[in-house]
Amino acid sequence: MSKPSPPEDLSRLCVHTITTKPWSIEKAMDKYAEAGIGGITVWQDALDDRNAALTGDQLRSRNLKIVSLCRGGFFPAISESDRQKAIDDNRRAIELAAELGAPSVVLVCGAVPGQPLETSRQQIIDGITAILPDAESAGIRLSIEPLHPMYADNRSAINTMEQANAVCAQINHPLLGIAVDVYHLWWDDQLEAQIKLAAENNRLFAFHICDWMSPTSDILNDRGLMGEGCIPVKTIRKYMEKNGFNGFNEVEIFSNRWWQSNQDDFLRQIKTAYINNS
Ligand code: ZN
Repeated sequence: MSKPSPPEDLSRLCVHTITTKPWSIEKAMDKYAEAGIGGITVWQDALDDRNAALTGDQLRSRNLKIVSLCRGGFFPAISESDRQKAIDDNRRAIELAAELGAPSVVLVCGAVPGQPLETSRQQIIDGITAILPDAESAGIRLSIEPLHPMYADNRSAINTMEQANAVCAQINHPLLGIAVDVYHLWWDDQLEAQIKLAAENNRLFAFHICDWMSPTSDILNDRGLMGEGCIPVKTIRKYMEKNGFNGFNEVEIFSNRWWQSNQDDFLRQIKTAYINNS
């Protein structure tokens, strides 16, 4: 007699609202809960015209753990007034996370085309330093997400784990850590060593998964489901877990192809890909 197979463990699976962009957050929360998914990361646009505290209650009442608010950051700017505006925007993001009941805010740190990356990195350090007191009083963690170097022009001057670790070391605050996203970091031969270094300093805050399509047709919106592309997701997850990470595996997929498909079918495939390929 064959034993019944164990129930699928989706307790550490989290889905980002952007992944199922065609759904409102109300629809997404019902669908994720019905699918047995354990967590949700909320993108700010999903909260437009809503009361964040109320949305937080709705998520908790469906037993969805709120993992993060995405996203703050974008600190660098040419003018001081624009840099101040970015700091103000990040303070609002921290408030929004607190209202929602999200324990952390993910930072896409920003860059300015034509401005030296070193200058942008210093402005990122200044910006994070300015908002850390707000994070402290709200009890919110800040996760620097290094982005693939193809986004070094206008999205992030922090492109490797090594750079993220260096910024964290310089600021040295327990509420500042790193969101490891396989899409951005899979190519880096220092990844395993830098994940270990981050873990030793209690900076492994989040783990985002998807896949890199080969060839990739769009540098923003052609991410794949785990197993569709060339990223060794299981290997990178092992780097995280052997260094003590036991948080959520957050599925973050921007994909015109998947957004055009039936989202119920997509969600089923996310579960299958999570179980088989992550
Ligand atoms: Zn990410």
